[in-house]
Amino acid sequence: MKINITSTFDAGNIEVINTDKPENIQLKIRKDTHSDFLQWFHFRLQGAKDQACKLNLLNAGEAAYPEGWENYQARASYDRETWFQIPTTYANGVLSMEFTPENNSVFIAYFAPFSYEQHLDLVNNAQHSPICSLECIGQTVQGRPIDFLRIGNGDDTKKKLWVIARQHPGESMAEWFMLGLISRLLDDEDSTTINLLEKANLYLVPNMNIDGSILGNLRVNAKGVNLNREWANPSIDNSPEVFYVKEKMKEIGMDFNLDVHGDEGLPYVFISGIEGIPSFNQKLSQLTDSFMKNWKSINPDIQDEHGYPKNEPGAANLNICSKNLGEEFKCLSQTLEMPFKQNDNIPDSINGWSSERSIKLGESLVSTLLAIVDDL
Ligand SMILES: [Zn+2]
Repeated sequence: MKINITSTFDAGNIEVINTDKPENIQLKIRKDTHSDFLQWFHFRLQGAKDQACKLNLLNAGEAAYPEGWENYQARASYDRETWFQIPTTYANGVLSMEFTPENNSVFIAYFAPFSYEQHLDLVNNAQHSPICSLECIGQTVQGRPIDFLRIGNGDDTKKKLWVIARQHPGESMAEWFMLGLISRLLDDEDSTTINLLEKANLYLVPNMNIDGSILGNLRVNAKGVNLNREWANPSIDNSPEVFYVKEKMKEIGMDFNLDVHGDEGLPYVFISGIEGIPSFNQKLSQLTDSFMKNWKSINPDIQDEHGYPKNEPGAANLNICSKNLGEEFKCLSQTLEMPFKQNDNIPDSINGWSSERSIKLGESLVSTLLAIVDDL
């Protein structure tokens, strides 16, 4: 049977160079739309049952984060539900995956994808809850709705907690996280949720970059713009996704913000804070510490030994979402990073960092918010 590799589906990304020999299948990662970033890949391999395949991504060395390939294992799935790691090596700028498929059709990806269909299921199922409403707050570059969820009774005296995810579309773990968070927030038999919603309303954007997700991009929207550098001056033309969400934030207000991401390089879950914003003060410092201390004790996947270096005072880049919003709203505003590789502190040799672990981390945010909400 002839080997066939395709990516003409939601979030697909691959260029086929040569599939003549299963032991040397040659592929390239396609660049993001109007951008030189590349790293996300997602394709379907057919016709290779019981054949020892070596799939080579020839331009992996040109990726946005080449260090992301070190100790990285690609993910594969036969049914697009269960994703597992396949043996992967990186040498001389080429990422090689060696794998003997058990079935004639298998999907291979940088990380378990979270498709647009799954996104539509997530937000449309959520609106069934009497405490949740789904709104379109604007349109993406390609004219898709920006989906926004409100959870709670809307009482304006309660704390206003925002969680947004997936500005960088290739970081699909961010939307798995939102799935866990939203499921728990809508569980009316969860006493932690009940207590939290007595004190707070939640405002959620489960996918900030719908176009980029569908296009199979790592980092940018359909205009080639990195949304997480647009927060100081978002534009309707180039970054409408940020423009409309920020307008909604100004309308509603904010006492807490979490911006959810994945990190290509570091094999840990970590937080990046707002130490470098002009308004950083003792209260924000205490809240930063309390948020980390509580979340660590609730879910040990969170840690603070490994992460990005903290900004020096006043040195924060206010184009970045969490820093911009921390400054504008003078509130606790953090960036969460999950690994593409593993959590090296609690490794899983079969799955690596997974959609399931991302979901459980999202669920655990509810307990963490309850622990700090009175101090926000
Ligand atoms: Zn990111």
